[in-house]
Amino acid sequence: MLRITVLILAALVGPGAAAVQAAELVVYSARNEQLIRPLFEAYERDRGVTIRFVTDKAGPLLARLKAEGASSPADLLITVDAGNLWHAAREGALAPVRSAVLARNIPAHLRDPGGRWYGLSVRARTIVYHRERVKPAELSTYEALAEPRWKGRLCLRTAKKVYNQSLVAALIAHHGEAGAERVVRGWVANLAAPVFSSDTKVLEAIAAGQCDVGIVNTYYYGRLLKKKPDLPLVLFWPNQETTGVHINVSGAGVTAHAPHRAEAVRFLEWLSGEQAQHLFADVNLEYPANPAVQPDPRVAAWGRFKADDLNLAEVGRLQAAAIRLMDRAGYR
Ligand code: FE
Repeated sequence: MLRITVLILAALVGPGAAAVQAAELVVYSARNEQLIRPLFEAYERDRGVTIRFVTDKAGPLLARLKAEGASSPADLLITVDAGNLWHAAREGALAPVRSAVLARNIPAHLRDPGGRWYGLSVRARTIVYHRERVKPAELSTYEALAEPRWKGRLCLRTAKKVYNQSLVAALIAHHGEAGAERVVRGWVANLAAPVFSSDTKVLEAIAAGQCDVGIVNTYYYGRLLKKKPDLPLVLFWPNQETTGVHINVSGAGVTAHAPHRAEAVRFLEWLSGEQAQHLFADVNLEYPANPAVQPDPRVAAWGRFKADDLNLAEVGRLQAAAIRLMDRAGYR
């Protein structure tokens, strides 16, 4: 993948590619190719705009944007997690966009107050349990998973993953550092096994009886359920009486030096509309960020829930504190 990335990029910035054509866009995407290609193809068909794209992980893409500076060919950055979007904005890689279409389509808590990035799909990070080992009445909140009754029963993914850093950042926003740290310490004390490298491994460990309960993004549950329809796992929506289910976004921003800025804004607006919202969310079993667009029936089947409406920029801002806190609490 990296090799392909480098080759494509060389073609983009190499000699002979300097002439800027109209109706062309360059996208750097940390969302993987199979998830975004259908979207680009739909836009090309719809609007006659040629989209060239580079895919890589969020970190290397941001580093590339910064290194290229004003000579970057990129118009738009697509990445997952508010932590990554916030970081890209803070590093000066994204330019503010004011758009009535985006303001109408994307709820305020799913976008940067400064307009530098917009959430395009919502992912819910929720509790999952083994249907024979846990009764839903035993569950209530993320915080309650820190109670001694869950000792030796909890499985978690590594603290190195940005999803968990964002979750803990939200805990800090709601409870302050001391309160959040008590929760995280309780989780660590309750672990049934060393932390896992992926949400899927957490799900598999619960299914195998290694633990009873865990915290995962729902689309991983959906993916595994597709492969194993008799999976003995059930999703639970926590914090319904309090702060709501922790959510995050995948999203995009127009780059600071976009050669095709106006076109990039039009594309971003299109991404927030009905057709693209379905393509963006359904392909990965996520929720549309635009509340007027219904989730895929497979996703809707998991039920409705109250989501946390904390602004995700706050989650980005508190990410560094969350990383330090998890380290202090022994969450690796
Ligand atoms: Fe993911």
